Amino acid sequence: MLLDNLTFLLSNFPHLHPSSKSFLSAVGDPGKICLTFDDGPDAESTPWFLQALDEAGVKATFFMLGSMAQAFPEVVQQVIEAGHEIGIHGYSHEVYIFKTQKSLLYDIAKAKGILGDMWGQEPKWFRPPYGLISKKVYNCALQTGLEPILWTNWGRDWKIGRTTYEVLQIATHNLAPGATILLHDSDCTSARGSWKTSLDALVILTKFFKSLGYDMTTLSNHLK
Ligand SMILES: [Zn+2]
Repeated sequence: MLLDNLTFLLSNFPHLHPSSKSFLSAVGDPGKICLTFDDGPDAESTPWFLQALDEAGVKATFFMLGSMAQAFPEVVQQVIEAGHEIGIHGYSHEVYIFKTQKSLLYDIAKAKGILGDMWGQEPKWFRPPYGLISKKVYNCALQTGLEPILWTNWGRDWKIGRTTYEVLQIATHNLAPGATILLHDSDCTSARGSWKTSLDALVILTKFFKSLGYDMTTLSNHLK
């Protein structure tokens, strides 16, 4: 049975509570909140997120796709110049748990090579597409020199018709100090235009967290 082979199958859990002991859930410094973005870079949408983060004075971590980085290298540079961190989200956003070890290693290493070269630094974090991770995927990430990580809260912002209010409500459900939040800065794998809702949510979330006195920082600073 397929599930016998899965150590982790977390995407079906809508709210991974930050009190979870799993390090994959990315519980960090209790004085901080970490904002992370998946599926970019995207020339249409990512610059808007950079602007919002800049206006809020916030650093974040962008889990990028190697294929998107090749399509929009200038946006990768904008993210780097703004001082954000880059994580690896794979090359082509496939369902990793169904791939062979050989193809997994190839896909992850390809993305890491492309993004590491552009960044000029060794990427540290790996978040599998769809958050689907098995023991095999986990080990392949480690073999590639990356540390697998998920999130504590997400906005489920990729769905058709999702409103900003809903994204905020979902992202802050069971929110606790040290949370790591997942939003999407590109709609390349989701509902067309969904990034606009994510962006609106981001602007409100940064104001909300600031009002509560939280620092917002990169994953590496969050999980020191
Ligand atoms: Zn993704």
